[in-house]
Amino acid sequence: MSNITGVTRGGKPYEPTFVTALNADNCIGCGRCYKVCPREVFELVERAEDDPAFDEDEDNSMVMTLANAQDCIGCGSCGRVCPKQCHTHSPLPAGG
Ligand code: SF4
Ligand code: SF4
Repeated sequence: MSNITGVTRGGKPYEPTFVTALNADNCIGCGRCYKVCPREVFELVERAEDDPAFDEDEDNSMVMTLANAQDCIGCGSCGRVCPKQCHTHSPLPAGG
């Protein structure tokens, strides 16, 4: 089965890659992905105190979450700006 494709203004096809996961253990809560996302997919929340990834010295008390993953348009911007490679992206089968 083929994947969903879009078309550039110049008529060239491209394949969107949609965000499917965010590695909270690696996230430092910098907010870069939140700022670049055009679809308000992300929400910054407080890390739970019993989260094993919480590190007072690293000041990572805030963590990004996928609040509205279904709104992703697959632009890939979040993955390009994240300094910790937290995001996983995947194309979407047409009709899936
Ligand atoms: S791929 Fe684009 S639309 Fe999707 S979550 Fe990342 S920045 Fe937002
Ligand atoms: S860009 Fe990466 S490290 Fe920064 S808040 Fe987003 S997921 Fe976390």
